[in-house]
Amino acid sequence: MKQIAKAYIEITDYCGLECDFCTPEKSKNKTDTMSLELFERIHNEINGVAKEVSYHILGDPLTAPNLSSYLDISLKYKIPVNITTSGFFLTPNNFATLTHPAIKQVNFSISSFFANKNIDTVDTYLGKIFDFCDFSAENPKRFINLRVWNIGNERYEKLNNVFFDRCRDRYGDLDFNTDKTKIAPYCLVVKDSMFEWPDFAKEKSNTGGRCYAISGQIGFLKNGDTVPCCLDSKGAMALGNIKHKSLSMLLNSQRAKNIVDGFSKGLLVEDFCKTCGFLGSRLG
Ligand code: SF4
Ligand code: SF4
Repeated sequence: MKQIAKAYIEITDYCGLECDFCTPEKSKNKTDTMSLELFERIHNEINGVAKEVSYHILGDPLTAPNLSSYLDISLKYKIPVNITTSGFFLTPNNFATLTHPAIKQVNFSISSFFANKNIDTVDTYLGKIFDFCDFSAENPKRFINLRVWNIGNERYEKLNNVFFDRCRDRYGDLDFNTDKTKIAPYCLVVKDSMFEWPDFAKEKSNTGGRCYAISGQIGFLKNGDTVPCCLDSKGAMALGNIKHKSLSMLLNSQRAKNIVDGFSKGLLVEDFCKTCGFLGSRLG
């Protein structure tokens, strides 16, 4: 089977936040997580196919009470892990979990936190993230990205400047005029613009385009539904369920073939893609 750059696995769709750009259709239950049995089945299927995994579609993996059990499984299969978290639930107690040997990279979505109403704890929030950056750098085997993916959006400008100032307070005179700024060993601030999530409720304004979905990435929702990309959080383009079908069967399904064939010709076969603001943009 052809190699895929990344598999996205939604170990939980609970995140405890209400970012103003995101769907409200998330779990309200912290313990409502993907079973370890299903997680291992996915690893069995992607072994030798996906170069790395990201525990993220919706939700925040840091809220999973048994995050280290998932990491142990990824380590067993030697598949490097990317963790994307808002960092809202970060405490010194989970610093050790976030430095698990399976983890290649931790992404803190600073812009997600900024897209919430109750953020009067911004100094506490940023302080603990910086503490983790320093803790992680003592044993530098993983990269940390502090993502500010809201550039150009005026309503976040003030908060972004607070963040850049706090970085300077902690790490010295830094220049944030470039897309990437190294603030500490193995630790970057990464800036990018905001993108619109695909949604059937939005206008189908894309008339054509190409995307790495399926040929470069695949996603597994908490219930095992297998989706072409990390933005299909509701299974709008589900190819089937990995509980009942092999990865090979799913990737060779007629729907998957049509999507990939369409992208190769610059055509958007799925209506969902016609609403996607990510098209022609970055991989998540
Ligand atoms: S963007 Fe992430 S952190 Fe924010 S509400 Fe959605 S799932 Fe939660
Ligand atoms: S165009 Fe957007 S919705 Fe369609 S597969 Fe790519 S990332 Fe997903």
